[in-house]
Amino acid sequence: MVYLCAQIEIDHMSKVTFRKNNTQFYSTLKSRVDAYFKNNNLDKTGNWSLYIKSLILIPLAFGLFFSVLYFHETLPVYASLTMCGILGLVFASIGFNVMHDACHGSYSKKQWLNDLMGYSLNIMGGNAFIWKQKHNIIHHTYTNVDGIDDDIAKSPVIRQCHTQTWAPAHRWQHIYVFVVYAISSIAWVFVMDFQKYLSRHIYRTKMGDVDKKEQVIFWTSKLYYLLVFILLPIWVVGFKAWIIGFAVMHVTMGLSLALTFQLAHVVEGAHFEEAYDDKNIENDWAIHQVMTTANFAPKNLLVRWYVGGLNYQIEHHLFPKISHVHYPALSEIVKEVCKEYGIVYNEFQTTRSAIVSHLKMMKEFGNTPPQVQTAA
Ligand SMILES: [Zn+2]
Repeated sequence: MVYLCAQIEIDHMSKVTFRKNNTQFYSTLKSRVDAYFKNNNLDKTGNWSLYIKSLILIPLAFGLFFSVLYFHETLPVYASLTMCGILGLVFASIGFNVMHDACHGSYSKKQWLNDLMGYSLNIMGGNAFIWKQKHNIIHHTYTNVDGIDDDIAKSPVIRQCHTQTWAPAHRWQHIYVFVVYAISSIAWVFVMDFQKYLSRHIYRTKMGDVDKKEQVIFWTSKLYYLLVFILLPIWVVGFKAWIIGFAVMHVTMGLSLALTFQLAHVVEGAHFEEAYDDKNIENDWAIHQVMTTANFAPKNLLVRWYVGGLNYQIEHHLFPKISHVHYPALSEIVKEVCKEYGIVYNEFQTTRSAIVSHLKMMKEFGNTPPQVQTAA
């Protein structure tokens, strides 16, 4: 949306705007969604099911972490490593369910509670302030726009759309991509946050002002992570046991986080744009969101519970300020309006089919581009 463009400044002064054609789609959709909440007398924020989930996941994470440390001498190695792996999965689930809603301001009607729960990201090694800029503003506005969207900016390691530079190694990216995802959360905590903070840029977009309070929060939470997740465990269990457990935790966390977000945008049927110069994106913002996003496993209650409704990413991208607990109901309305306006609603019935589709796309983007074949 044009008003969102004003909030960010892209290097080289390129300007990206959405054409204001067919805005009727979003206004129809919005009025039907508003009517749903009004008729059912519901708040758009989280409800008891989200709060119960928080009360399960957060104590579970603390319990696993301190149990591994406290019982390290009595637990068999496989049990300790399993607990570390589960801890990584629980952290990712706190990210999907609690942090993500809180950082979008949809966890609760109380802003202080959203702020507080958003800091769960800092507890897990990230930074809520940077995330809000990277995710809420850049990713949610310029979804799959190469040159702006940081989520598809992993080149030259992996090539996630046709407009990115190709390298011969990309031919095998559909195989080694799992290694990239496995180290993604560790890279996030120790490399990418620092890159963004020190350069004051998120990919090619200038970050908003990082005031004194945010600077203190950044360094304090990184120091806390060093003390609690590195120095304390090394002191209790020794360096060798810590590094193995820490790596296992990050592998499960990284795989789970990366795959969930990739299945939403880098699959067959998802649309890509590029913006290295001034760009008018063909469609209205809302239509662009539907065209660049996909849902998966809509009937799988376990997947839905674990990924915090992020298997309903179409609804999330259209209504990021509505809590994920409402997405299954909203999906019926979105599907109906998409049908009326002739917009394709991209959905994979199972997680497995979405993963297969993602790998097919990674293989396609890894193939030697025709211009390189011709030059050779
Ligand atoms: Zn989001």
